[in-house]
Amino acid sequence: MIDVPPCEACPDCLQTVDIVLESSDGKQFGAHSINLELYTDSFPSVSMITKLDDDVVKLSESADVVLLMLKYMHNQVQPDCDTLEPGLLLDFAKAAEKYGMYPAFEACKKGMRARTSSRPLEALLFKTRYDSTEGIDTLVRQTLSMPMEQVLAVLNNAQDIFIIWSRYREKWRLTFPTYQDLVSRGPTTKNWRSHNSTSGCMRQKLFDTVGVFLKNDRNPSIAEVDRVVATCRETLSCSRCSVVETASDWDEWRARVVESIDKLPKWVEFVSI
Ligand SMILES: [Zn+2]
Ligand SMILES: [Zn+2]
Repeated sequence: MIDVPPCEACPDCLQTVDIVLESSDGKQFGAHSINLELYTDSFPSVSMITKLDDDVVKLSESADVVLLMLKYMHNQVQPDCDTLEPGLLLDFAKAAEKYGMYPAFEACKKGMRARTSSRPLEALLFKTRYDSTEGIDTLVRQTLSMPMEQVLAVLNNAQDIFIIWSRYREKWRLTFPTYQDLVSRGPTTKNWRSHNSTSGCMRQKLFDTVGVFLKNDRNPSIAEVDRVVATCRETLSCSRCSVVETASDWDEWRARVVESIDKLPKWVEFVSI
């Protein structure tokens, strides 16, 4: 017989501890084989394990992850995955997927979605591994200016993702400035022809204003460009200006903006390579 550790997963747990799990870092946990069967899909087939008379069941997960798993195997208020440390959350998600713990896995997914703006790299890693790629470009574009050390620290065990990320960033650096340049300049180099009283000419500011609204938008769309341009042209009009650019200048410019947006990298392009 081995020493039987108590169940730590649930305060005042009344269930019998009949199996001992050991984490990769050597901590032992008392657990209940019935819960392993009920709450997981593929836990090392419990019926085949000779329980307490024998050895402990060794797991490749850390103690923090094992404790979380065991908590999710009790009918109780569960730990809030939205506040878990992102590295631990990733490890927990991996375990939840591996053992087929669906409610736990869904909680991890929700927890990671809550981190898209605060921890975009971890959220990116999670998304590529466990979630749909919907919205992934918005996410990856938040990470492109991060220092390389920071990126490597999160993606160091995910070489495939790091390679895609690097290619993405490379293409971004080649293409985004074209978009920025176009929206900052407008169709002509000068958008107004001076009149006697230049003071109070609203139109002078037209391209600057369009540029301010659009050029740092890392998820540009032509719908947004159209909206901003229409609003600015309406607001910054001037009855005394003789306008330089024509309607076809605008159309041509718009077509070039569309092209520049199309040329921005998309995550899915790199995945199939
Ligand atoms: Zn228990
Ligand atoms: Zn004017």
